[in-house]
Amino acid sequence: MTSMTVGRVANAPVASALEGDLVTSADLRDSILRHLTYDLGKEPEMAEIHDWRIALSLALRERIVDHWFASMRTARHSGAKRVYYLSMEFLIGRLLEDSMVNLGLEEAADRALTDLGLNLQDILADEPDAALGNGGLGRLAACFMESLATVGCPAFGYGIRYEHGLFKQRFVQGRQVEEPEDWLQQRPAWEFERSDIAFKLCFGGEVSEDGGKAVWHPEEAVVAKAYDTPIISWQGRWANTLRLWSARPLHGFDLERFNRGEFAAAAEPEALARTISRVLYPDDTTEQGKELRLKQEFFFTAASLRDILRRFEAEHDNLRLLPQKAAIQLNDTHPAIAGPEMVRLLHDERGMELDEAIVTARACLSYTNHTLMPEALERWPEHLMHRLLPRHMQLIERIDAAHAVKQPTRQVSALEHGEVKMGELAFMMAHKVNGVSALHTELMKSTVFAELHRLHPDRIVNQTNGVTPRRWVLSANRRLSALITDTIGEGWVDDLEQLEQLEPYFGDAGFLDRYAAAKRENKADLSNWLATEMDLKVDPTALFDVQIKRIHEYKRQHMNLLETIALWKEIAANPDAGWTPRVKIFAGKAAPGYVFAKEIVHLINEVAAVINADPVTAPYLKVAFLPNYNVTLAERLIPAADLSEQISTAGKEASGTGNMKFALNGALTVGTLDGANVEIRERVGEENFFLFGMTADEVIARREVPGHAAQAIEADARLAGALADIGEGRFSPDDPGRYHGVTGNLSHHDYFLVCSDFTAYWEAQRRIDAAFADQNAWMRMAAINTARSGWFSSDRAIRGYMADIWNAEALEVPGPGDVLHSGRQALG
Ligand SMILES: *Cc1c(COP(=O)(O)O)cnc(C)c1O
Repeated sequence: MTSMTVGRVANAPVASALEGDLVTSADLRDSILRHLTYDLGKEPEMAEIHDWRIALSLALRERIVDHWFASMRTARHSGAKRVYYLSMEFLIGRLLEDSMVNLGLEEAADRALTDLGLNLQDILADEPDAALGNGGLGRLAACFMESLATVGCPAFGYGIRYEHGLFKQRFVQGRQVEEPEDWLQQRPAWEFERSDIAFKLCFGGEVSEDGGKAVWHPEEAVVAKAYDTPIISWQGRWANTLRLWSARPLHGFDLERFNRGEFAAAAEPEALARTISRVLYPDDTTEQGKELRLKQEFFFTAASLRDILRRFEAEHDNLRLLPQKAAIQLNDTHPAIAGPEMVRLLHDERGMELDEAIVTARACLSYTNHTLMPEALERWPEHLMHRLLPRHMQLIERIDAAHAVKQPTRQVSALEHGEVKMGELAFMMAHKVNGVSALHTELMKSTVFAELHRLHPDRIVNQTNGVTPRRWVLSANRRLSALITDTIGEGWVDDLEQLEQLEPYFGDAGFLDRYAAAKRENKADLSNWLATEMDLKVDPTALFDVQIKRIHEYKRQHMNLLETIALWKEIAANPDAGWTPRVKIFAGKAAPGYVFAKEIVHLINEVAAVINADPVTAPYLKVAFLPNYNVTLAERLIPAADLSEQISTAGKEASGTGNMKFALNGALTVGTLDGANVEIRERVGEENFFLFGMTADEVIARREVPGHAAQAIEADARLAGALADIGEGRFSPDDPGRYHGVTGNLSHHDYFLVCSDFTAYWEAQRRIDAAFADQNAWMRMAAINTARSGWFSSDRAIRGYMADIWNAEALEVPGPGDVLHSGRQALG
């Protein structure tokens, strides 16, 4: 992100998407100064960088609002179906650059700030990441929000406004230390607080019968209050709302107690209620069984459904029309309580017959499954569900019974061993259930949901994930974007499959040179950054080998690390053998309670310290583990990657989206046949993808082989040597036994088949060394990856959901005159 004039044509004044809506840098400068003075109450001489950043954000937000109102109005007047995306997580990252680029105001902003003696890049770098998510699932929701706007689909995203997002990761003597994240510390620049949009939500108590009608007498209540962030499309054609709920006490603070001097007690209800939206659970794979987590899930789901029904009822008076007007997508099972809650709202509160309420709810709801790992599929103890949501527990039983009637042998139930199985419940209450890659969807049909699939053969569909090209190519990789736009025009930005038009240029002298130059400069930038931020010197022409994602055994960072150790030993033994220089780059957070993952973090750091201190291998191998992986770091690393590590145990990664970001940015994949890797390989061509390892079927068969790990270690001296070094404390001389847990697990248990796949992985890496040595051929393969990965745009994914799941249509805003000069109305 160094050059400001690439990617779009310089012209002044800059025209944003709406013709006639000309924003000059002088206008923008004036509005920055106005916001600084009158909203932030700062004089320019006294303003700090974050003041300027917030003033710029407010100046841009102001320009989003008209588009936003126009979109809302169009949606209202057209009577079109709205899409509601319910997600416990939105891993947004920064919004300033995104908004500026989508509004077409980058040059104007750059000039306005230069006039003010400021630097745009410094200001962009000051924005904290909104990290309201753990990883892929939350990032998918964020990409989907941007694509929903860009394709013009009227939509709301619904989630929780966590006070503290995902923890910050630091390393202390190589160990992960978690620190609370504080994105709301400075004034949030993008959101609108909606004091008038608030719902009371209840928990606990009991249910009584009154003339055949169930009446819930809850014992606790909190208020969900809305905060709205407008999400602007590419070129400002459409804007949707991300509505996040914050928990507040029903009754504010207790003045009587306060006056008696009981200050802490007076504030207690407030603190208790706020707990619900206090923190994001830092674990995306195993459930904590915590009551608070279930409360969070009900809290945001129930608030969203009330909001959806309120909007519907303001526009229509026949509840039967609801499925034609509202498509509600459940991103994973976290909002699966939507099934029973919607039945309750329709049946208990609005008097619809129970059977019809179930059918109506199901016609609105659909569910995205994100994992096949049984331990990651949510289950709640029935007694907890009963205690917290007694009426919902009854309705879950009714839903389950209604489903059972339709299946003579009654093999499937949402209730088992005293637990509510949220995956089954979500399936039963959804008219469509989707997997997130072709392989994942097939495995869903044959494993977790095999019985349900047999009963409902039309319900499961596939929608392979995607990523937004505005953030992940256009903004993140300015050099590549400029080259693409110079070559084929700007149309690719919202029609990413146009990247195919690049391929005919590969024969021209010049194109591949410029492609290689862009990669080289991105790598030089990253090298400089590593030198200043990490005090690590790397060869900028080395192969940049990158594995960045949550730390998890199934993602197998430890396999990558074992290969790193084996490579280091081999280089040390024979330094003059013509090695391809490599920089191994890792980044990722481990869930705080996931002990094994934290040991892997520690081990990577300790191995890095030893290898980086070795003068003999230094020209050929360096290891960097960058702390605090987040969206912003991903944007920095991916454009500089040569090699994308997608090495999960086959059958375990539902899709992956990191793999798509890398392929688009011209990194070659070393990967297993897992998740969307399969589809990436099909599209880029097998000769442009480094495949290795067992297939999902082979994985299952291999686990049945007694002593498979010991066998694999026995057969591969490199693997044995690397494991022995770890086991003997070569990387932890202060505590030689530190990693006995890790080596013991790998040698005896090895559920994720690190040992069994190691040899194939090693061999793939050596093929990669050889391929990288021919830079012309490599760059051609990289460019082919870019040209053929356009299908992995989240615009394509969203259009797939609209057509196959939501039955929703895109709208367009009316002309610019209508937008800019019509009266402002309250938002829907
Ligand atoms: C894309 C992304 C992910 C998902 O990465 P995978 O490799 O698909 O697991 C996680 N975290 C961040 C910050 C991302 O940008």
